[in-house]
Amino acid sequence: MNEKTVFQKILSREIPAPILYEDDLVAAFHDINPQAPTHVLIVPKKLIPRVGEAEPEDQATLGALLLAAGKIADQLGVKDRSKGFRLVINHGRDAGETVPHLHVHLLAGRSLDWPPG
Ligand code: 5GP
Repeated sequence: MNEKTVFQKILSREIPAPILYEDDLVAAFHDINPQAPTHVLIVPKKLIPRVGEAEPEDQATLGALLLAAGKIADQLGVKDRSKGFRLVINHGRDAGETVPHLHVHLLAGRSLDWPPG
């Protein structure tokens, strides 16, 4: 069996991290190395390595990631359009993926450049 990803260890509470949001399919916690005043990671409980490897059977999980993002943004007070937030999913080396467990970055709390670097 492959070694657990760091996010699986957080989900199983082997690595402590306050869980901000959890439902049947996904959970969310603060990024250890925040790139904005708010930087949350939303991860599926099922190990999907990266978004391009999701299967049709993962449709509900993919939807749950985005629905959770909206709820967490509301919870953290950044959902209002006068503030706002950005969601990022990195797939592969050129995109900067470092953890092979699908995750959505929720970034907020400062003005974010576009296009991204
Ligand atoms: P990626 O570069 O794969 O899109 O994002 C992986 C993210 O996971 C990075 O932003 C990194 O800071 C975060 N990360 C890596 N290890 C840990 C950890 O042990 N705990 C938490 N909370 N975040 C982590």
